[in-house]
Amino acid sequence: MRINLSKTPRSIAIDLNFSGPQPSHFGANAASAVPMQVDGFVGDTRQGGSCNVDVIQMNPHCNGTHTETISHIVDELLPPHQVLEQSLMVAELVTIEPQLATELIASNSYQPPMEADEYLLSVEQLTAVKKSLHKHTKALIIRTLPNNKNKQRRHYNGQNQPPYFSNEAIAWLANETPIEHLLVDLPSIDRLHDKGMLSNHRLFWNLSPGSKQLSESCWQHKTITEMVYVADDIPDGSYLLNLQVPKLNLNAVPSNPTLQPISF
Ligand SMILES: [Zn+2]
Repeated sequence: MRINLSKTPRSIAIDLNFSGPQPSHFGANAASAVPMQVDGFVGDTRQGGSCNVDVIQMNPHCNGTHTETISHIVDELLPPHQVLEQSLMVAELVTIEPQLATELIASNSYQPPMEADEYLLSVEQLTAVKKSLHKHTKALIIRTLPNNKNKQRRHYNGQNQPPYFSNEAIAWLANETPIEHLLVDLPSIDRLHDKGMLSNHRLFWNLSPGSKQLSESCWQHKTITEMVYVADDIPDGSYLLNLQVPKLNLNAVPSNPTLQPISF
């Protein structure tokens, strides 16, 4: 394997602008930053302060690019920085155009049942990716079409529902491939309003429906990264992925995945 270090790594994180347009999911408030104020000190040089010190409020799941662990759906806390002891890994970037539910209903399903006018990524589209995976590939990055730049500032809600994966697609990925880390440009691998079932998250981490406890059979070493944005000029193919996460003890944290070209 050859890594081309002469090329600058490309980030596939969305830059989060605390004082401008941001993406949002599930009706979440925008992330915000305000100057710290304590005992006459103001953390803003433009307001006479000696330096700039912000207090931020954000929701990692809904305000932008984030990496999550099985703790998104169980009681026990396993932060991403503990799961990702090795942040460097071989990743495959693929581009997929979600399909209308009515076109894939024969071999794809979802819990709760999918609606006719929804768009999904199907098991057929994922299995087609298998031929491009190498034996060392541990991460799969999925760019969906269309890939408008406004995806970086989009508000996903009941009127603007993002595509999601069929249960068969995620079950295949989780059970039949070496992929441990899934990165997608959608705000969730599950449907926006899914009656709280999170059926794809459960399949990915091998957690039975309704369970909120870690068990031996769960795949705790896997992570999901949502709301990435992969620019059009980054071609499909193999990369060295650096899935950088801060040491925050949370179930999901803002992350900065970067891609470096590699060849085999
Ligand atoms: Zn999430």
